[in-house]
Amino acid sequence: LKHLWIERPERSVRTGFAVNRLDRLSERRDDGAFIDELRCSEGARSLVFAGEVPVLKRRGDAFEPLFTFAEVDGLGIAAEQVFLGHDSTRPFFATLLETQTPEPAQGHRDIVMIDLRSVAMQGLVTPDVLGAFGQAKSLLYWHSRHRFCSNCGAPNRMVAAGWRRVCDVCEAQHFPRTDPVVIMLVVSGNDCLLGRQPGFPAGMYSCLAGFVEAGETCEDAVRREVFEEAGIATGRIAYVASQPWPFPASLMIGCFAEALARELSIDTRELDDARWFSQDEVRLMLARAHPAGVVTPPKLAIAHLLLQEWIAGEIGLNPPR
Ligand SMILES: [Zn+2]
Repeated sequence: LKHLWIERPERSVRTGFAVNRLDRLSERRDDGAFIDELRCSEGARSLVFAGEVPVLKRRGDAFEPLFTFAEVDGLGIAAEQVFLGHDSTRPFFATLLETQTPEPAQGHRDIVMIDLRSVAMQGLVTPDVLGAFGQAKSLLYWHSRHRFCSNCGAPNRMVAAGWRRVCDVCEAQHFPRTDPVVIMLVVSGNDCLLGRQPGFPAGMYSCLAGFVEAGETCEDAVRREVFEEAGIATGRIAYVASQPWPFPASLMIGCFAEALARELSIDTRELDDARWFSQDEVRLMLARAHPAGVVTPPKLAIAHLLLQEWIAGEIGLNPPR
């Protein structure tokens, strides 16, 4: 597993949910006997979800996210169980309970449910486990919403240790989805463009973002979204970093985009506000010291990384064509 433990030089690892050193052993997923053997091995552990919410063991002020399968059985019936990978010491699985509210066996009053955003924001688990939680959440969510064949409508079933569903009626195979989203810091000289979506916490401004559509490159999606939301044409685009975002199953693709204009035309159905911020302002926002109380997204978010890199002068836009 040496390739999984090399020092990762890329910026992506500085975002939440991006560190995941599990060897997914994807070539062994169809070997049911092998997966069963891993599951029955002494070191095997499982993350546990009730609905979309992680289940944790409280240990004083700390939280333990890994359950033995005996402990999992004590929490309720498993609706789905998937294999996440092997960390070179033990295999990791994830369990989705049938119940939304686990009823821990007697003597397990230390069981708590904490939503994954809070687990991430409060740093309740190590970065490695947070990455595995993100992987598990996206995959289990997909299973919970894809119990019927999208081709013929018959009930289908999970195979390949959780990485495929098959329909026994029409033989269609269905694969877990990941939805690409571009998120971009639009820059114009010493200024950058940030906006506010209606659901944002008070005072928070972030990069513009949107789903990549069929038939689009990332660059085209950036240009379309920035023009739709803010009326700004963009020229050069540079990839910066990416981040798995398990709400429910996105891959955030972080870019810089060079603005070709300054005058904003804001789509008020998408954004409450958008405006240009100077580098000095962004420094204050990152430090939570802006006099108007405006702030950047938290460190866990890729928008935070994009702003940090811009402040550090790491723009790296492609040379002009
Ligand atoms: Zn079918």
